[in-house]
Amino acid sequence: MLRRFSRWMRRKGRQTCPRRMKEAGPWEYKEMLDFWETRKGYGKMRLCSFCGGVHPDDVIEATRQGAWIEKTTKNYKVYLHKDEWKGRQRKVYLQHFSDEQRERGNAVYMAMGRNEAVLWSEGDVI
Ligand SMILES: [Zn+2]
Repeated sequence: MLRRFSRWMRRKGRQTCPRRMKEAGPWEYKEMLDFWETRKGYGKMRLCSFCGGVHPDDVIEATRQGAWIEKTTKNYKVYLHKDEWKGRQRKVYLQHFSDEQRERGNAVYMAMGRNEAVLWSEGDVI
């Protein structure tokens, strides 16, 4: 999933995608090969250069600003939706969340009146 750096992407910091290290694939199993990057059409939202998932803190901030979460058939993946995005959902991979981010995300989500099932509990992540 290596991509050429382009003017439509801006790298915001090196990181290791947990999916790179835990899933089977034809890629290198090395730390710090991935980035948080912004892309054209996504505003200031940071996306993982490896899996395309949204940065957990940006997911939490988006829910604070009215975004909502849709579960998928995969317990480690959800979609983030917001009216302004006109149906173009964002992918969220729960493996990127720390325990602290899960707790904070749940608290914000519930505070916004989203009383659906808890989406960021540890049990949701394989
Ligand atoms: Zn990732």
